[in-house]
Amino acid sequence: MIQIKTEQEIKLLRENNILVSDTLAEVAKHIRPGVTTLELNAIAETFIRSHGAVPGFLGYGGFPYTLCVSVNEQVVHGFPSEYTLREGDIVSVDCGTIIGGFYGDSAYTFAVGEIDPQVRKLLDVTKEALYKGVEQARAGARVGDISAAVQHCAESNGFSVVRELVGHGLGRDMHEEPEVPNYGNRGRGPLLKEGMVLCIEPMINMGGRAVVFEQDGWTVRTRDRKPSAHFEFAVAIRKGEADVLTDFRRIEDAVRSTT
Ligand code: MG
Ligand code: MG
Repeated sequence: MIQIKTEQEIKLLRENNILVSDTLAEVAKHIRPGVTTLELNAIAETFIRSHGAVPGFLGYGGFPYTLCVSVNEQVVHGFPSEYTLREGDIVSVDCGTIIGGFYGDSAYTFAVGEIDPQVRKLLDVTKEALYKGVEQARAGARVGDISAAVQHCAESNGFSVVRELVGHGLGRDMHEEPEVPNYGNRGRGPLLKEGMVLCIEPMINMGGRAVVFEQDGWTVRTRDRKPSAHFEFAVAIRKGEADVLTDFRRIEDAVRSTT
């Protein structure tokens, strides 16, 4: 059953995803060689709580941290740790909040200092794939239209699409129906209706698409240990173009201010 949100509920979802965007912007200011990913987690938790919200991931299904921090070959769901970021790393930071009983959920992959040009291309293409998916997210389209657009963008640039993890509906629960795969066929899947709220989140690998689940029970990494990138928007479906609830400008302004 795919839920249709009221305008009041979409307002709360926007409030959450703006706070997630601001939290990711705060984290961005601290991403540099020498910082540990646990320090980033602490910064995020303090920031979220100081804004009167609750970290959405902490305790979700037993997840023990505020952020998922996934470095280089880690795809998603990485644990913050004593690992110290190094020049040339990429780091996916996925963040959730709860305000008013609704969730925020958005992610951004950051470069640590100067990165390899091919890795830069992976980041650029993954974000472009997200935007191509969002272009398809409108009332009357189908989930498969989003999926196909993401997949085409990634694969036509020589990258591969993770199959095991997908986007999802967002609301009072972090993972609602429908699933939003990053691969698929146009014209297939559930019909999109005004008032649905979806997370679109391409996970794109530089090498092969195969992934491995680590023994911590959470971390997903590429089997070939080549880098993977991840960007995530929450969007509300409208009759015209999608109403994006996440604000990457806040994050990118913070990135620019630190470089
Ligand atoms: Mg997420
Ligand atoms: Mg998500």
